[in-house]
Amino acid sequence: MNAEIIAVGSEMLTGDRIDTNSLFITDQLNNLGVEVVAKHVIGDDRERLARTIRQAARSSDFVIVSGGLGPTEDDVTRDAVAAALGRAQVFNAGISEGIEERFRRMKRVMPEINKRQAMVIQGAEILANDCGTAPGQWIVTGKQVVMILPGPPHELKSMFTRECMSRLAHIVPPLVIRTRIFRVSGMSESDLDQTISPIYKKYENPATTILAHNGDLQVHLRARCATKAEAESLLDEVCGPIETALGSLIYSRCGHPLEIVIGRKLTERNATLVVAESATGGGLSERITSVPGSSKYFLGGFVTYTAAMKTEVLGVPEDLLELHGAVSPAIAEAMARGARNRTGATWAISITGNAGPGTDGPEGAAQAPVGVVYIGIAGPDESVETFHRIWPSSDRARVRAFAAQMALDMLNRKLQ
Ligand code: ATP
Repeated sequence: MNAEIIAVGSEMLTGDRIDTNSLFITDQLNNLGVEVVAKHVIGDDRERLARTIRQAARSSDFVIVSGGLGPTEDDVTRDAVAAALGRAQVFNAGISEGIEERFRRMKRVMPEINKRQAMVIQGAEILANDCGTAPGQWIVTGKQVVMILPGPPHELKSMFTRECMSRLAHIVPPLVIRTRIFRVSGMSESDLDQTISPIYKKYENPATTILAHNGDLQVHLRARCATKAEAESLLDEVCGPIETALGSLIYSRCGHPLEIVIGRKLTERNATLVVAESATGGGLSERITSVPGSSKYFLGGFVTYTAAMKTEVLGVPEDLLELHGAVSPAIAEAMARGARNRTGATWAISITGNAGPGTDGPEGAAQAPVGVVYIGIAGPDESVETFHRIWPSSDRARVRAFAAQMALDMLNRKLQ
């Protein structure tokens, strides 16, 4: 079965607010096996909203409208739904009394305009609002259901969970959804797709999606079946060949990010880690320390931005900096070695690069092209390996995020 979600509110057509209600509703519907086929954001415009509802109710099993249930003139949802379905609205004295009582508890008198919130579309079931004034409505129209829900996210969540989920569960045929997530690093999104699409394209179920974010790739497989066993066996059938095709490029089979994977490996080996960052300015340490319990293996991080700090804190020789420039394999190596020697950590990672966008990077960095990053990994055998990458981007945030991702990826490979 499928659904369309309509978020009502002119504020969501500006940069001020984003529609988060639909994300929550989508998640809940997906858990029931209902697919969301369209989402709309409509301003406070009765006609446009009525048109959208009419169209959605023609093609989808469920139409969920959120927001615009307040008492003021610009709250147009009830009127638009009534117009779209060709139904009248009826004043419900019980709802009005409930709202009045809510005002009384707050030592206030209910303004007359709040009576609008007690208007109910003919034939609708009322959905109680335990967090606010506007009740929701559940309207069955032939084979479709139109739901009207309040806009404030906490009201919507509570109402949807309490009132809508059980009603939906009676209508939607039971379906089990099982998901597997592979996380992949060290290849491009298009290379990944080229490698695995011949496998997953043969199947409509499970549905496969590839998500890419700053050098981190995720493959999501979602199987929908009548039983758990069926879903698991379908996933096994598709995941087996994907795992074979990707081999060690997969760093996690349960959705964990690299910082968690590395943290586990370091803990298992009783090993420690230190980082020396230039271009990423602490971003790598931030990722590592975002993991609860990282103090077991993470000794700390040096942010050495200037040449003087690299020399003072990490012992990078001045003449080496002059000879090679701050963004070079020699300096990445010296930074990693220095960080490891000065702290006694088992492993050290260094990052030096020019994140751009212009020429005003850390001292010496501007000599290197924008997007160039060197990473050094110093390990327990006293060796230091350096890696080099150029990202064709002058987007500072992206280059820095890519660099941190690559550094974690390189250490993870060393910990295989
Ligand atoms: P109220 O009775 O409180 O006026 P309402 O149903 O009329 O509720 P709106 O006035 O449309 O809801 O929205 C109330 C608040 O909830 C606003 O701050 C609005 O930005 C926010 N909101 C509305 N819809 C959404 C949405 N889809 N996602 C996130 N926030 C939303």
